[in-house]
Order: sequence, then C-alpha cells, then structure tokens
Amino acid sequence: MEKYKCSSVGIVGSGIQGVCTGLQLIKKGIPVTIFDKHDPLSENFKPASYGNAGHFSPYAVLKFNRPDILKDVPKMLFSSYGPLAIKWNYIFKLVPWLTNYIKNCNSRSMLHTAKYMNQICRSADQSYEEIFKEIDTTNLVDKKGIIYVWSNKNLKSRKLEIKVRNDLGINQKILSQKEILDLEPNLKPIFDGGILYENCMFARDPHAILKKIFRLFLNKGGKFIQDNIISLKQTDENKAILNSEKERYSFEKIVVAAGAYSKKLTDQLGENIPLDTERGYHVHFKGMNKLISRPVICLDRGFGLSPMNQGLRAVGTVELGGLKNPPSKKRIDYIVKSAREFLPQLKEHHDEWLGFRPSLPDFLPILGPSLKNKNIIYAFGHDHLGWTLGAVTGKIICGIVAEEKTNLDLSAYSSKRFN
Ligand SMILES: Cc1cc2nc3c(=O)[nH]c(=O)nc-3n(C[C@H](O)[C@H](O)[C@H](O)COP(=O)(O)OP(=O)(O)OC[C@H]3O[C@@H](n4cnc5c(N)ncnc54)[C@H](O)[C@@H]3O)c2cc1C
Repeated sequence: MEKYKCSSVGIVGSGIQGVCTGLQLIKKGIPVTIFDKHDPLSENFKPASYGNAGHFSPYAVLKFNRPDILKDVPKMLFSSYGPLAIKWNYIFKLVPWLTNYIKNCNSRSMLHTAKYMNQICRSADQSYEEIFKEIDTTNLVDKKGIIYVWSNKNLKSRKLEIKVRNDLGINQKILSQKEILDLEPNLKPIFDGGILYENCMFARDPHAILKKIFRLFLNKGGKFIQDNIISLKQTDENKAILNSEKERYSFEKIVVAAGAYSKKLTDQLGENIPLDTERGYHVHFKGMNKLISRPVICLDRGFGLSPMNQGLRAVGTVELGGLKNPPSKKRIDYIVKSAREFLPQLKEHHDEWLGFRPSLPDFLPILGPSLKNKNIIYAFGHDHLGWTLGAVTGKIICGIVAEEKTNLDLSAYSSKRFN
C-alpha cells in the first residue's frame, strides 16, 4: 500500500518545536513553510527557545501539579522575593489556568503527568543526537551532567521526587555537599546536598543550536516567511489557510507551534484551551562562565546558573502575569542576588531578558490534531521542558502529519482533556 503523502504544510512559529517539526517534515519530502514574526537568524529573535537555561533534562518528569507544592503556593505568592510571583493585575485572566491547575493538583494527576512526560522524555536525547549528526555542535553542547542542590535541609519535595524518578527507572546520583564541591569548587557551600544527573547534555547557546537546525531545514529545501499570523481556518477536507494582515497562505495542513502565543490562534477554532504563560527571566555575568563546569540549579529557590558562551546565565523563577505585562525589576534583583550568594565573585550583570514558557495546567504539552479541524495540528504547551522536548516533538508531529502508526500512546497529549 502506498504511504500517505501530505502535499504541503505551514507551521506557525520558528521556536524549537516549529523548527524541529519543519526539519522532520522536509526530510520526508513534504514541502514546508515556517512562519514567524521574527527571523530566527536575526538578533531580534528572543522567544523562550532563545533564552532558556539550556538543560536537556529528560529526567524532569515530575511537575508542579503536586499536592505538597499547592499548600505552599499562597505563601510564595504573597512574598515578592521568592521562586514564584504573580502580577496581581492579571489575577482575573489567570482564573481558567488556576482553576484547572488546582483540579490537577493531586497524586493521581501528578503520576499521570510523570508517566506521560516520561514516555516522550525517554527518546528526547536520542532525537536530538540524530539531528546533531547533521550539524556541528562543537562548543555548543556539553555532556558533563546537571546538578540540582537544595539549601533547605527539610526540603520535603526531595524524597517524593527521588522516589518517583526511581520508580520510572531514571538515573540519578544523590550527592553530599562535599561531593558537589568536588565537582564545582567555586560554589559557596550554602546548600545541604543535591542530585547529579550524570551524562546529561546542556546547551552552551540554545539560540546558536536553533539557528543551525533552522539552516539545515532551509538547506534541505524548507521555506521561511517572516510574517505575523493573525488567523487560521480549515476550509475543506484538504485545505487550511493562514492569514496575516496582508497575505493569505493556503496549505493542506497547518501546525500551530507558536509557544505561549498559541492560544490566540486556538481560541479561533472554538477550543477553550487554558494555555497561559509561566514567565521566566535571565541575566548574564559576562566572562564568568568558567566559574562552574555544568548547570547548577537551586531547587528551593527556583533558579539556576548555566555556563553559556555569552557568559554565566543566571536564569529561572516563575511569574504568573500573562504576555503583556512589563518585566519585573524585583524578579531580576532576586535572580542576581541569589546568583551572588552562590558565587560571590559575580559583579555586574548584563542582558536582562524575560521569556514566556507555554504553560498548561496539567503540565503536559498538546500534541495532536485540533478537535474540530483535523488538518490543524497542535504542538505547544511544553512549559519548563520545551527545549528538552524539541527534537522528539518534531518527530511526533511529523508522524501525525504523515498519518503514520506509532507505538506511543498519544491520547494523553490531546486537547480533548480540556474540552
Ligand atoms: C527562563 C526559562 C528557562 C527555561 N529553561 C529550560 C531548560 O533549561 N530546559 C528546557 O527543556 N526548557 C526550558 N525552558 C522552556 C523552553 O524554553 C520552552 O518550553 C520552549 O522554548 C518553547 O518552545 P516553542 O517552540 O514552543 O515556543 P517559543 O520558543 O516561544 O517559539 C514560539 C515562536 O512562535 C512565534 N509566534 C508566536 N505567535 C506567532 C504568530 N501569530 N505569527 C507568527 N509567529 C508567531 C514567536 O515569535 C516565537 O518565535 C525555559 C523557559 C524559560 C522562560
């Protein structure tokens, strides 16, 4: 029997999901055009896929829909100087996400999320390694592992996380303070212990890697159009259209990979998906990237340090506040102060950046066709793990577009769960 072939695909978004999906489709011989408001090769391109912490973290399957975390949320929200913050002018708009989050905050949902995150995380690195065979990643990807530390002896999440990961067969090595200092001697010993995820990869410049994957896509015949897509529609069995302010583009299928902005498009399709954003920040300490050899994350402060080519990147925290609020100076101050506590050698910082994690309240991405328009396929909502899951998402979405069989159970990623 002849394989199904799609005649053309338009992808909205050239973040890591869009670019990896485009690459897989073009490799299959399916004509693809990627759209983005910003050219990924330009300096103006600064979405989440540009400024993240660079962890390839397939072990991070346990998310925030945990009953133990829920109890701490109100306290954290009322402190403006902690890992979680809120823009109070956004509280009413946050209601759909928040109510769904509370509904999903129980042991059953937590384990459901962990199981289905693990299903895709298991082949996340392998999927990237296949791409890395085709691009030069010298000085861009390191494999020295990733360390998590905790500075609160009674950090209760520790035991639960370790157990769930053990149950799922995830490799983790518990470290004492001394063992961490043996690996990272410049850290100030203000932590109690930690975990090393050995042999994990990290990106020394996520944007540079994305650009290489994007160039590979173009070299294989993929097209890119810089345009802001304002609407989309499936018009008949074999046709779906994208509209910008000036142009109308027609394809057989469309992939929505617009990260945290995807809701603007999915709302038009009559689906009420509670996508929102968990805002995160970074700054760089230029010339200080040699102070540590691998990313170090402080679990109880919700921030981390990543040695990037641009400098030491202090990155993280979660702020609930939508896409339009301006950046918060207090968030930056919190990250800078925390970074200096771990590495007192740090002085001036540069490049304050705010990015938007595409967040769904059960912390699973949406991967699959729109409920009412089967030619429009969703690939968004990867939240804290979107960098890790870019390459595997590309493969999954390509398989959905080409209507191929898969051994994966994709039902858990459908938008049906919110409708
Ligand atoms: C502070 C921070 C740290 C993080 N650290 C990590 C980490 O260490 N590891 C990890 O795995 N993940 C991490 N993440 C999460 C990860 O970065 C994101 O989940 C991921 O980059 C999302 O990729 P994306 O392609 O879905 O969206 P994005 O990267 O946001 O890309 C979406 C693109 O769509 C374009 N777009 C949107 N709407 C339109 C439109 N209407 N028309 C045209 N173009 C449009 C945008 O311009 C953008 O380029 C972090 C995120 C943040 C904020």
